[in-house]
Amino acid sequence: MIATTARRAAVASLVVLLALALAPPGPGPRPARAGDRGPPRFPAGTRAADVAVCLQPLGKVDAAVLTAVERGVTAAYGFTTRSLAAAELPASAYYRPRKRYRADTLLDHLVAKVVPDAGCDLVLGGTEVDISVTKDHHRDWGVLGLAYLDAQVAVISTFRTRRGAARRTSLMRTVKVATHELGHALGLDHDDSVAGCMMNDARGTVKTVDAETGVPCRHEREAIEARLGVDLPDVTAMDWRHVLGP
Ligand SMILES: [Zn+2]
Repeated sequence: MIATTARRAAVASLVVLLALALAPPGPGPRPARAGDRGPPRFPAGTRAADVAVCLQPLGKVDAAVLTAVERGVTAAYGFTTRSLAAAELPASAYYRPRKRYRADTLLDHLVAKVVPDAGCDLVLGGTEVDISVTKDHHRDWGVLGLAYLDAQVAVISTFRTRRGAARRTSLMRTVKVATHELGHALGLDHDDSVAGCMMNDARGTVKTVDAETGVPCRHEREAIEARLGVDLPDVTAMDWRHVLGP
């Protein structure tokens, strides 16, 4: 299972204050390399719309957030999205000293409890509570999202995307975090070779997120296509009027 392989190594991303990459190790940003991880994930002839991404609300999640993320993921990747019934936040993920939830435990929860029966190729957890990981000497470090690299699960939190932000900005940030984290789950590492691309490392500030398009740049799209064996739509910009409504 994913949780017991090397893929257990997670790429935490879009961290407020510091760029964070729990894994893979190595110096500096590297180019997208999703295509070198083995055979394509899907059989020949699979279309992007055949790939199912399920949103799993963990605790109460604003319906507008779910709608925006569903539309944004479909716009960026061409995948079919749907939201699952809301589920309780697992108590096992609660970190009492900081009163927030451990993102890696949430991913493990999704792997164990949601992926097996959801009938989805990817499961994206979403929550409004603050989530965190262990980062270097920080026992508990707040993040916007986390994914297991080249795996089936990712999780995002709106706690930091909505802080001090107007609603529309908050929603845009949340959608971008979602497409970024799914990029990790689809096999992409951070990649700063082209500014504004989806997999740019946040480098410690949500401003980086604001500068991203939220859709894969060409080299990112091609890397994902190679990894999945699926052609993705050639989208150069997010249609925010469609994703967020007027
Ligand atoms: Zn990241």
